[in-house]
Amino acid sequence: MIVIKTAREIRKMQDACTLSARALKLAGEAVEPGVSTKEIDTIVQKFIEEQGAKPSFLGYGGFPGSACVSVNNVVIHGIPSKKIILKAGDIVSIDVGAYLEGYHGDNAYTFPCGDISKEARMLLDATKESLFQGIQKAVAGNRVGDISSAVQKYVETRGYSVVRDFVGHGVGAKLHEEPSVPNFGTAGRGPRLIPGMTIAIEPMVNQGKYDVEVLSDDWTTVTKDGSLSAHFEHTVAITPDGPVIMTVPD
Ligand code: MG
Repeated sequence: MIVIKTAREIRKMQDACTLSARALKLAGEAVEPGVSTKEIDTIVQKFIEEQGAKPSFLGYGGFPGSACVSVNNVVIHGIPSKKIILKAGDIVSIDVGAYLEGYHGDNAYTFPCGDISKEARMLLDATKESLFQGIQKAVAGNRVGDISSAVQKYVETRGYSVVRDFVGHGVGAKLHEEPSVPNFGTAGRGPRLIPGMTIAIEPMVNQGKYDVEVLSDDWTTVTKDGSLSAHFEHTVAITPDGPVIMTVPD
């Protein structure tokens, strides 16, 4: 069932989204050579808890961190670790959610660590832009497939691939709600977008092939071919006036 929120509920959810965005921004500012992914996680957890909220991911399905920190060929769900030390040239995907007063906000961004290669920069730019291509289609009356198709076309035109095994989702009182929002698909297909829906659009884009595999820790998801991967995500509200990006730090 797709939960439709009232304008008042969306206003309430805005606080959780703003907080998630501020936590993600802080996490990104901490990305530099020599920092462990555990240190980034601690910054996120402390900040969210100080604001009287809860990190959405901590303990979710047993996840042992407040942020997913996924480096280079890690697509998503990287477990923060003292042993993973960032170095110049890495790309660092950070996914953060905050739960405040009954609602979740969810967002992700891939940050460069120091100077990165031209190839890595191009992947980041393309993935970020594909998110905005998707958001532009998050318009009442359109269908989920319009978002999916816009993301996929943008990405594949540039020679990259979109991950199939993980997709975006509705978000609200629960972290993962219906509908699924794939980053691949056919325009005009899928559930109709109507005002009051809040969805997380989150392209995961691989430099190489789209196949991924989950490591034996049951979380860390890597590209099968070892290529780099990037991940950008916003929580977006469908409104009568068009898409509203809710995960903005202010
Ligand atoms: Mg998400």
